[in-house]
Amino acid sequence: SYVYADGNGAAATRRKVAIVGAGLVGSLAALNFARMGHEVQLYEYREDIRQAQLVQGRSINLALSQRGRKALAAVGLEQQVLATAIPMRGRMLHNVKGRTSIVLYDPCNNQCLYSVGRKQLNELLLNACDAFPNIQCHFEHKLISANIREARMQFKLGTERQAEEQLISVAADLIVGCDGAFSALRQQLVRQPGFNYSQEYIGTGYLELCIPAKDNEFQMPPNYLHIWPRDSFMMIALPNQDKSFTVTLSMPFELFGQLQTQQQLLDFFRTHYVDALPLIGEQQLIKDFFKSRPQHLMSVKCKPYHYMDKALILGDAAHAMVPYYGQGMNAGMEDLTLLSSILNQELPLDVALEQFTESRWQDAHAICDLAMYNYVEMRDLTKRWSFRCRKWLDTT
Ligand code: FAD
Repeated sequence: SYVYADGNGAAATRRKVAIVGAGLVGSLAALNFARMGHEVQLYEYREDIRQAQLVQGRSINLALSQRGRKALAAVGLEQQVLATAIPMRGRMLHNVKGRTSIVLYDPCNNQCLYSVGRKQLNELLLNACDAFPNIQCHFEHKLISANIREARMQFKLGTERQAEEQLISVAADLIVGCDGAFSALRQQLVRQPGFNYSQEYIGTGYLELCIPAKDNEFQMPPNYLHIWPRDSFMMIALPNQDKSFTVTLSMPFELFGQLQTQQQLLDFFRTHYVDALPLIGEQQLIKDFFKSRPQHLMSVKCKPYHYMDKALILGDAAHAMVPYYGQGMNAGMEDLTLLSSILNQELPLDVALEQFTESRWQDAHAICDLAMYNYVEMRDLTKRWSFRCRKWLDTT
């Protein structure tokens, strides 16, 4: 470590920071550390998504809220993201007969959520990283082990398809694990005495479908988060820039298991999602539904988020949550708002990271709980509310 003048002209200790995972939180973390003047090495297991033909992984689009916007604003990217995001002013609820009603998120102040494409947002963040001479990106580098006492890491190079394994060892001053819900860095923290950790899988899985654009237009009103609440299961849809909707079907795994044939699937949709079926298209539904398996969802709580001044976990690595509060990415980005404000105080790093854990864990645990609660609310309570609340507009 040596002294360096940061972007604001203040002297700071320049460190070699290794960030593991170049997803939404990792690439934003790289920008934050680079702006403070640190030398950032960003390691990502997958190939560069900007060159990838097919990006595998979770949800195609996400709801961006105030927490995420604030963190993007801090690195000068909020307006660029919002320029292509689609505002969602409320929930549009679809009942079993296909009738819809609206609940505005904030009728008084007109605040809204924004639907953003995961790939576009990640690309924008990585492009921003390219503009910093003190960030170096290393794709196809999978963290396989780490010695957090010495901040040493071992990476496997190349893709899973490659037969020959090539391993490299790397040292840093600080390792920042932004490597998602199954974090390899967290596995090292788990071994430390005093590290508390819990994970919970829910009995519900999810599968993504699509409502395509028709005649280059949206098939449903675009400025809403569409919800089909059905007691023990539900479906939601968020708009995309190409005027399609990404539809997420969430159901207990047993229910997925009961839909074995094309006829069973079509009957199920005719009964529960009568208005969505023609928009998705019967043949497309059959193709998309049977081509992939429902994905598992889990919630992770742990504490502390750091080890001495050597290691830190952020985002899903620290607090993965079920997606029903639309806050996983937003909370991960908010980690960086808090972390930057603490690091800017220029405390000794171990003290700063301790302060980060202490200031963050209760909120992070609370949002994991809220996400779990909202899962019940969205599939169940919204349905009941729709019969109670007189203020709602009936749009049909
Ligand atoms: P990730 O996005 O998981 O990124 C981790 C990165 O690390 C990946 O690029 C991965 O390849 C890489 N990596 C993993 N292991 C290694 C390794 N060993 N070595 C090197 N690299 C590694 N959040 C919201 O705020 N709003 C929403 O609307 C929303 N909707 C969602 C819908 C669904 C269906 C799901 C599943 C999640 C949703 N989320 C939402 C949550 C959001 O996706 C996550 O919180 C967010 O992606 C976390 O970002 P991250 O960078 O911490 O982790």
